[in-house]
Amino acid sequence: MAIATLLPATTAFIQRAPRMLIGAEWVEAADGQTMPLRNPATGEQLCVVPRATVDDVDRAVLAARQAFDDSPWSRTRPRERQNLLWKLADLMQRDAELLAQLECLNNGKSAAVAQVMDVQLAIDFLRYMAGWATKIEGSSVEVSVPLMPDQQFHSFIRREAVGVVGAIVAWNFPLLLACWKLGPALATGCTVVLKPADETPLTALKLAELVQEAGYPDGVFNVVTGTGITAGAALTHNPRVDKLTFTGSTAVGKEIGKIAMDSMTRVTLELGGKSPTIVMADADLGSAAAGAASAIFFNQGQVCCAGSRLYVQRKHFDKVVADIAGIANAMKLGSGLDTSVDMGPLISARQQERVWRYIEMGRESGATIACGGEQFGPGYFVKPTVIVDVDQQHSLVQEEIFGPVLVAIPFDDEADALRMANDSPYGLGASIWSNDLAAVHRMIPRIKSGSVWVNCHSALDPALPFGGYKMSGVGREMGYAAIEHYTELKSVLIKL
Ligand code: NAD
Repeated sequence: MAIATLLPATTAFIQRAPRMLIGAEWVEAADGQTMPLRNPATGEQLCVVPRATVDDVDRAVLAARQAFDDSPWSRTRPRERQNLLWKLADLMQRDAELLAQLECLNNGKSAAVAQVMDVQLAIDFLRYMAGWATKIEGSSVEVSVPLMPDQQFHSFIRREAVGVVGAIVAWNFPLLLACWKLGPALATGCTVVLKPADETPLTALKLAELVQEAGYPDGVFNVVTGTGITAGAALTHNPRVDKLTFTGSTAVGKEIGKIAMDSMTRVTLELGGKSPTIVMADADLGSAAAGAASAIFFNQGQVCCAGSRLYVQRKHFDKVVADIAGIANAMKLGSGLDTSVDMGPLISARQQERVWRYIEMGRESGATIACGGEQFGPGYFVKPTVIVDVDQQHSLVQEEIFGPVLVAIPFDDEADALRMANDSPYGLGASIWSNDLAAVHRMIPRIKSGSVWVNCHSALDPALPFGGYKMSGVGREMGYAAIEHYTELKSVLIKL
């Protein structure tokens, strides 16, 4: 067992009970209320953070509004926005270990994995978005204007920053999800109020420090820590917000979408998933089994596009399931600070209970637990679990569990695989494991999801738009698509 030593800066950050950033000020909640954060590996209290009131959120939005409407930020050139984003990414690189340790303590995930995955992906993404800052273009159009046949015109289309962005994110990749919002917002010239998940605000608060250090004007980035029901709802309802961008559950996303429509606030929703992993008979079975295991067990299964439904062509079903169960049984569970550990705890007692309820539901309905199916503490641990002998319509197959639980079902042919893969309210991602090029190309257009991976799963790149079909959301993050979602088009017609 090799336990990573906490950096003095990590301990100091937690011990000083971090505050929220509103405008230029690091503040407590207006009423002094706090909320405790827990270390999911032990269940022990880590520290407390402010529990923002409606008034705090309103002040944060006002700071963002003023920064957007009337501050040096509103006049920044694309080059300055690019350079600031690069500077922020460089500071994150400098503090990558600290950010990873905060993520580990607050979320439970491995510090080593967080450093090379969460933190590095966030840095790479900000650098990618920095590049867009200088490449946002409008266009000029030759127009006819039929009602004014004798006139000459000059006409062009501008792409303008959407304005004040209210960003609300989930707890599974706290820093990365925040940067998916922050990157395009800062590249285009927007300002942001971020409400991190109730459970995991620490890296967002560290990020806010780095934004200040990078030299962003006050009010460009504000962080309010608090509950969804109070702070999240206040942000959603605030009329000074021009765009809402949300990552979280489909249930909350639907509510936010309805509220946004009432005021025509622009909205992007990145929601839940129940992504299929499809293993065709001709696949390289060894890499398919390893890939399917990693597709569901990475980050304790708390991944929106986790491969949580496995479909294997019937003749290889037993072997692939046995191989995945073998991988699962060999996984070592423990604290994310232990570098020999393969899987950490779930985020909270509530999430552990939720995942456990699904496993129990499977048992009660006669499904077979091929491996795992156990929970333990202290901390919120659930062993990697594979469940077979389940019907396609079972809640285990249709609902998002958001934990290390894989349901596996055999299929007979390509049509059968596609039918079951698409038989889901969700449509975030899907993977096909096959070397049959023709079959793969036949299947890709027929899969109803925002991403399709072939011989890999959950492989993300800043240049590739990411988002959902169906109940998995509205809009896309990453790629140029994100720039489009943080800008408005303005058509200009000048009579000469
Ligand atoms: P959640 O919806 O409970 O919470 C997400 C965020 O919304 C939190 O910050 C929470 O405080 C806030 N919130 C809760 N109620 C609110 C309300 N009434 N008004 C405004 N804000 C409110 O989700 P969760 O349990 O934190 O996260 C897990 C979910 O997130 C899963 O469904 C997962 O699939 C999804 N997710 C999706 C993506 C994606 O990119 N599609 C990425 C990560 C997670």
